[in-house]
Amino acid sequence: MRSYSLIAPAKINLYLEILGDRADGYHELAMILQSIELADQVNIRAIGTQTIQVHCDHPQVPRDETNLAYRAVELMSQEFPDCWAQFGGVEVTIQKNIPVAAGLAGGSTNAAAVLVGLDMLWQLGLTQPELQELAAKLGSDVPFCLAGGTAIATGRGEELDPLPSLDSFYVVLAKHQNLAVSTAWAYQTYRSEFGNSYRRSDLASKSIATEPLNTPTRVHSGSMVQGIINKNGSKIGQLLYNDLEKVVLPNYPQVLQLRQAFENSGALGTMMSGSGPTVFALCQSQEQAQEILQQVQSAIRCPDLGFWVSKFTSHGIQIISPQKSLFIGNRE
Ligand code: ATP
Repeated sequence: MRSYSLIAPAKINLYLEILGDRADGYHELAMILQSIELADQVNIRAIGTQTIQVHCDHPQVPRDETNLAYRAVELMSQEFPDCWAQFGGVEVTIQKNIPVAAGLAGGSTNAAAVLVGLDMLWQLGLTQPELQELAAKLGSDVPFCLAGGTAIATGRGEELDPLPSLDSFYVVLAKHQNLAVSTAWAYQTYRSEFGNSYRRSDLASKSIATEPLNTPTRVHSGSMVQGIINKNGSKIGQLLYNDLEKVVLPNYPQVLQLRQAFENSGALGTMMSGSGPTVFALCQSQEQAQEILQQVQSAIRCPDLGFWVSKFTSHGIQIISPQKSLFIGNRE
């Protein structure tokens, strides 16, 4: 029976700026994304029947067509009907290590792993741009998850420009296990509270779905890019930025509390990732990460709080042999 095992890393946002509205209903974004070693394992196997089966023992992960990994198989079966007919159905088994609904792109990275796995399983020989095009159909974060590393993401997040890799840094991640923030809610709330500051442009009169409706009023990511090129941890830490904090922190006091505890911990910097509620602290070394972890653990004593220490990685989706031992981040 042919099968593949893949490592699907999580991502954090070092920078997330909302620039305006787009005609396709999404926001125009400027982001800097970073892969971390905290990862799911996705196993993919051809099965005899013409069905899609998703297995995952995490209670918050759906196993039906709402699972992004399921949708990735569905997309591939539509794009390559001959392979679907020839190789039969597909079984996807997700070993979930990435916290769910956490702003760490857990679903997106699973979908990216399925694209790579099916490319192998069906011997398609797709090029990186072809895989990226398929990934963009599944979600804004899927193309980044495929390539991984450190990158600037623009458009709705799917247009990528790689940056020099930063893999010596560590992060401490913290998330209240029973707290989930809806990404759709965060962006809609941002639009209703800050949308009047978006500047309209001439493009608004055009009906090109993929063009931005509004011009950027500001893009501050340039200094962050410079910090990344120089691998200057202090500068990167100071310049961490996320517009969505403006709506999430006032509405979720637990996230604000975490953010303040990390701020007082002596880390290089701290920020909420994506739409939250995960908050991370940037650290120069594993030793510093462990110190900060202990400080914050003793500052906030809450049984619902989960912590992870992970290292930056320059990898996106990786294929592993089933026998090989697997690094999944240091789950505390
Ligand atoms: P993003 O940062 O891309 O918005 P996220 O990390 O905040 O994503 P996910 O972990 O992808 O969030 O989960 C968001 C929702 O998607 C969950 O509530 C879950 O029910 C659903 N979901 C669908 N497929 C998956 C999957 N493969 N893994 C995790 N969640 C999934």
